[in-house]
Amino acid sequence: MWLNANNIAALLKCVGRHFKVVALVAFSILTLPAAATAEAKLKVVATTGMIADAARQVGGDTVEVKALMGPGVDPHAYRQTRSDIVAMTRADLVLWHGLYLEAQMEEFFHDLARKRTVVAVAEGLSKDRLLGHDEYADKFDPHVWMTPALWKDVVAEVQKALSDVRPEQADVFAANAAAHMAELDQLISYGEEVLTQVPASNRVLVTAHDAFGYFGGEYGFEVMGIQGISTQSEAGLNRISTLVDMLVERQVSAVFVESSVSDRSVRALIEGAAAQGHEVRIGGELFSDAMGEEGTYEGTYVGMLDHNITTIAGALGAEVPTKGMSGRLSAAGL
Ligand SMILES: [Zn+2]
Repeated sequence: MWLNANNIAALLKCVGRHFKVVALVAFSILTLPAAATAEAKLKVVATTGMIADAARQVGGDTVEVKALMGPGVDPHAYRQTRSDIVAMTRADLVLWHGLYLEAQMEEFFHDLARKRTVVAVAEGLSKDRLLGHDEYADKFDPHVWMTPALWKDVVAEVQKALSDVRPEQADVFAANAAAHMAELDQLISYGEEVLTQVPASNRVLVTAHDAFGYFGGEYGFEVMGIQGISTQSEAGLNRISTLVDMLVERQVSAVFVESSVSDRSVRALIEGAAAQGHEVRIGGELFSDAMGEEGTYEGTYVGMLDHNITTIAGALGAEVPTKGMSGRLSAAGL
């Protein structure tokens, strides 16, 4: 309705008559506790895109989530920038991974935890679900997002962290988490369906760094990274020549590059095998420690895993739908 002079006058008269009521309502709104208005979104900062995705899935409309590390960013090497620090000091909740993934930021988070609500979501996982590693005598393999079954535990930790900060919305978080868990269950079934089709002799997964230990354990693949569990150490020539011999001996036909790690060492393997007369091709690019482009399906946790599962299974001999579990993949990895 457009207001003209007549109905403005009527409105003012009406407001005047009900002034006490209006004032009372306004006063009540002003004095309500902040949480009860629920309009203010909870500001969440997460280190990796995967954790940010979990916070968005569980928080839904009630959260505003910022990921510090975008597509292609290597968390083992990442250091907080000045604008990251500003965002974290303004956040209601800071979620980081832990398990020494953000190796360069550990100290920073321990300091920040004295001032802000800071939760290391993977540190809450039951230790008997975690893998160790030769390189990490007293630490665990941090790459727990590589299987949806383990990731469900991380989503549960994110749900707990959000509910602790805003208990009055715990029901909303529980409902959103349940819906996301159902999607993760679908991903678990899809992974089993396509990866079990890979012939046993082809179940060797060679990648740029040791990010796929949990994946291998879950789906029965032997996993070999050229670099170790962190990307911080260069692959030695010995490691390259051992892997080349293995590729030739076992007639492995495909190796994989990773979106967040240089492909230089993977190419060295291919050249080494070619020098011995064995052709190895790149089976595709996998999302190891970062998701795909923001705003795309591969830029979500489900899309990232769908891409990896479909690319690996397809390159190593299984029949896979080219566009993945739900027809949404760009199929670029194949
Ligand atoms: Zn990694």
